[in-house]
Amino acid sequence: MEIYHISAECFPAAKVGGLADVVGALPKYLNRLGHDAKVVIPGYDTKFSRERDFDAIFKGEIRLGDFHLHYDVVKESADALGFELYLIKIPQMFDRDEIYGYEDDTERFTAFQIAFLDWLTQTGQTPDIVHCHDHHTGLVPFMMQHCYRFGHFNRIPTLLTIHNAQYQGWFSFDKVGYLPEFAAVNGGYLEWNGIINPLAAAIKCAAMVTTVSPSYLEEMSGSANGLENLLRFERGKSVGILNGIDTEIWNPDTDPMLEFNYNTGNFEAGKSENKKALCKQFGLDEKLPVFSFIGRLVYEKGAELLPEITRRVLSEFKGKANIMILGSGEAGVEEHLRALSHFHRENYNVYIGYNEQLAHLVYAGSDFLLMPSRVEPCGLNQMYSLRYGTIPIVRRTGGLRDTVIDMGDGGFGICHDQTSVEDVLWSIERALDLFADEQRFNAIRREGMELDHSWDSVAGKYMEHYLNLKK
Ligand code: ADP
Repeated sequence: MEIYHISAECFPAAKVGGLADVVGALPKYLNRLGHDAKVVIPGYDTKFSRERDFDAIFKGEIRLGDFHLHYDVVKESADALGFELYLIKIPQMFDRDEIYGYEDDTERFTAFQIAFLDWLTQTGQTPDIVHCHDHHTGLVPFMMQHCYRFGHFNRIPTLLTIHNAQYQGWFSFDKVGYLPEFAAVNGGYLEWNGIINPLAAAIKCAAMVTTVSPSYLEEMSGSANGLENLLRFERGKSVGILNGIDTEIWNPDTDPMLEFNYNTGNFEAGKSENKKALCKQFGLDEKLPVFSFIGRLVYEKGAELLPEITRRVLSEFKGKANIMILGSGEAGVEEHLRALSHFHRENYNVYIGYNEQLAHLVYAGSDFLLMPSRVEPCGLNQMYSLRYGTIPIVRRTGGLRDTVIDMGDGGFGICHDQTSVEDVLWSIERALDLFADEQRFNAIRREGMELDHSWDSVAGKYMEHYLNLKK
């Protein structure tokens, strides 16, 4: 079966968060089941696109309203990722360093989606499934069904995976002319609450909708940034499938980004070597437990609580714990976290920015990982940390609820109910007690490392749904 994944991110070519990890792994595992899964993303100016070799595949031209745009499709020559990766390059739109956050994101991602369908059309391709990820590719199902130019695709099933419903890609009806012509009567598919909403359009038009965990699907009926009613209405074609993790990249036994490799047989020694390296690099005390946070410093992740949590840990548990933060996001939170490091030089440090290599060392060298998220559609960090023998401290929400069982309930993590400083501090207190009981601490770490969250079984679930859609 030929499946095209279309996405704004794909690890290692372009990554901001978990979307990239999923799109960079699922197709590889689908191919191992004997299928032909491919990925198409925009051709950003990233290190990956500068360093790898690409074959020129196609040159085309599209219209975006009154603009005529040229585009080039290139394919990563070596197929090194376990699937064919195609980049659609549109000069002036994607040859920039950042993936999102520009004023013309609407124009950029609309042009990308039109170019994708134009390329398929011009080259006579008719894949079995088109799998769209998040709002950046949410206009594809609409265009395949309702735009005259792409009418020949209307029998190809489309699947939408919602990785994050907070962001929906809204834009006003002044820009509806960017889309190829469609019958006015179908304009309603694009609309939600008076404006064009690409995520809502995809929820309406895709043959099937998946979310990245079963709990997130449940929770979205009550809270989905305005899409609750729509999601309730479309519930019949929706299913929650928990993400997997790429256990080849995220394997402490072979991970080239670690100081020392380890497995369940020698994790006490292996982790302590990584912890030493981490503590040395960031001036932390290696005898004390390290509590870390890795992620986007945004409200969804509970990031604005981190300065207060840090301040209170360093005073109430003085000399008992280290805090290490790796992230970037809201300027105010970044500034606050940086300022704290001037006052607390011994048991706290922060790295503001995105650093893949450091993230691997932090997962390996920490004892506990903090995830006080308000919204967590799936969350991959807790699965990486478990695999690296680091105990996750999570708020029970979304995918965190589906993957972390509290140690008090016979599990391998520490859970709390609220995104609040008090709840996190209470969990940290429980973690300190656990850390003091070496035997139990090690038993729980080992149990986490032995869990299987690999894509092997998850890819089969997607396959079942693709096959049903093709029937
Ligand atoms: P989200 O997609 O909401 O940001 P996920 O938990 O699904 O959250 O995925 C986050 C991914 O991004 C993980 O691979 C995590 O290690 C990585 N990550 C987030 N922030 C950083 C950072 N500052 N440096 C390195 N990796 C990061």
